[in-house]
Amino acid sequence: MSKKDKKKRTDSMEDKKKNETRQSTMQNRMENMNGQKPKTISIVISVYNEEKALHEFYREATPIFEALPWNYELIFVNDGSADASGQILAELAAADPRVRVINFSRNFGHEAAMLAGLDHSIGEGIVCMDADLQHPPECVAQIIERFEEGYEVINMVRTKNKSAGFIKNLTSSAFYKFLNKISDVKLENNASDFFALTAAQVLKTNYREKVRFLRGYVQNIGFNRTTIEYEARARVAGESKYSIRKLFKFSINTILCFSDLPLKLGIYSGIIVGFLGLL
Ligand code: UDP
Ligand code: MG
Repeated sequence: MSKKDKKKRTDSMEDKKKNETRQSTMQNRMENMNGQKPKTISIVISVYNEEKALHEFYREATPIFEALPWNYELIFVNDGSADASGQILAELAAADPRVRVINFSRNFGHEAAMLAGLDHSIGEGIVCMDADLQHPPECVAQIIERFEEGYEVINMVRTKNKSAGFIKNLTSSAFYKFLNKISDVKLENNASDFFALTAAQVLKTNYREKVRFLRGYVQNIGFNRTTIEYEARARVAGESKYSIRKLFKFSINTILCFSDLPLKLGIYSGIIVGFLGLL
């Protein structure tokens, strides 16, 4: 056999080995998926230009999720990213059957991304979290414990937010105080887009407004509710997608969504101006 042929043969043997290893990992994973674990938790992750964070998220979170007492599926919702996020997610999904990807045709916003993930989830329980590791993956074990105790809605409450600046923390807490004053619904201070529920069906068929504030709905759909405190870590990579301007717009939309005060103000001022016009 010539040197060239020998090399060809070694190469093809290596390829075969690689394929076998890959197949057996896939098989292990499928067995894990269909195995002894009683239930499945769907973990929904919204992704907008997170190319710098995705590998790190997957690498850190996978062993933590594998150790959970439930099976899991990872649903990444690619919210029209313009960077390599879509490509990275396609690669993760090709290598790991527990990963599913939903691709949006453009950027529709975080709320729309979470709802799409929720709609496509198959688990008995669902968790929504950020792709930047600010929401610690270790918390999912605590979430499952609470589900098993019979809780159906879990709000994750931040005790600290390591990467938000002083202004962002202050305006966030002022926003919740204001919203609670003017609306009938009561929202937890420092609630985040990190929440979990077994009552996901309700959100699949209700609360379909164009302007959404999912964390607000989650706190007001009733059911057996509890909270878990967590410390928001610093973002693993990349920057926050919420500028102060975007947050301001989001806050105004939320106030309009959760309170009828602005509408009443409009009606009353209309009536007063109308009367004044008659004088
Ligand atoms: N995100 C999204 N669409 C957007 C903006 C953000 O899917 O239009 C995702 C983003 O990739 C992240 C999560 O929503 O996984 C929360 O955004 P970010 O971490 O930037 O917000 P912050 O934690 O700073 O409030
Ligand atoms: Mg974040």
